[in-house]
Amino acid sequence: MSIYWNKRVKNLSPYVPGEQPRDRKFIKLNTNENPYPPSPKVIEAVQKAVNGDLRLYPDPDCAAFREAAARRYGVMPGQIFAGNGSDEILGFAFGAFFESIYADGPPLNAKTADVILFPDITYSFYPVYAGLWNIPYRQIHLRDDFYINCDDYRIPCAGIIFPNPNAPTGIPVPLADILSLAECLETQGRVLIIDEAYIAFSAQSAVPFINEHPNLLVVHTLSKSASLAGMRFGYAVGDEELITGLCRIRDSFNSYTIDRLALAAAAAAVADASYYDKINNRVIATRERTAESLKNLKFNVLQSAANFLFIKAPKISGRDLFCALREKGILARHFNKEKITDYLRVSIGTDEDMDEFIAACEEILNRI
Ligand code: PMP
Repeated sequence: MSIYWNKRVKNLSPYVPGEQPRDRKFIKLNTNENPYPPSPKVIEAVQKAVNGDLRLYPDPDCAAFREAAARRYGVMPGQIFAGNGSDEILGFAFGAFFESIYADGPPLNAKTADVILFPDITYSFYPVYAGLWNIPYRQIHLRDDFYINCDDYRIPCAGIIFPNPNAPTGIPVPLADILSLAECLETQGRVLIIDEAYIAFSAQSAVPFINEHPNLLVVHTLSKSASLAGMRFGYAVGDEELITGLCRIRDSFNSYTIDRLALAAAAAAVADASYYDKINNRVIATRERTAESLKNLKFNVLQSAANFLFIKAPKISGRDLFCALREKGILARHFNKEKITDYLRVSIGTDEDMDEFIAACEEILNRI
């Protein structure tokens, strides 16, 4: 704590990202990166963009990317927003569509209709953004089986956000429930944000329905399904007025959030669906095979539509399994949080990575 920090900084509880180790080589199953490289067309586009034009600012409108994404999804370029990772877009969206409580406003959580809603077990950045923008929120319990029940969200509120599939569980939400929730929120004049970070790994996207729901913002990332976590690129798809709202926040902060190389990579990535379908289908097949092996070892394995599995081991705590795997050179993600402390989130790597992971689990369990 520094005397120079203002109250906002003092009160923040920042997000803690998964470990990116530098000391030794791990099988990295802790941050949901894709085990396969980006499309060769992406590498080529980046290499071509490494030239003297780097002296120029990038296009603040991200026009080439928005046109490529618009072609991919059958929408207008004005319905696409590009950001420096989907985290940035989510941060902007909280600021653009959810109401802040100001110092002279009502106390936090004063009225239920003033609070936004998200699940109690979900992406742990949401409460951080709410804290940054001073937005009151309420966390809705998942069902006991870890599913999101959309009916629990049909209450007066100031907006809703959740991922589909949810993280860190991987459980998908039926598209029909999402669309019906969007309709319910539209009557309240509120926004529904669906964070589709893991949509490419099985669940059904809400993107084709943005024209029917002017209050529905769908957020995607190139970090997982497009193997570009190192590039930092995300995009949102929604009604033009929502996109303009995001631009107003961005342009009050930093007009050039995306550099020339990332723009070149992203335009090539959204245009190469066939390459990415191929590698992501491989990830899905590996996920299913890994889930079966873990069930054979008596793990509880939640249904997953993502590129990770959320698992609970027999006989050993989540923390102890995390540490034992780490000792064997395998990194997973443990969340020290009520309800899920006995679970680990394990990203899907290559078949070889997962064979080593399964063998390590078997050995650890046999030791007990
Ligand atoms: N949403 C969810 C649910 C995530 O798990 C992540 C990855 N941490 C993100 C958004 C952010 O992804 P990125 O900023 O890499 O696009």
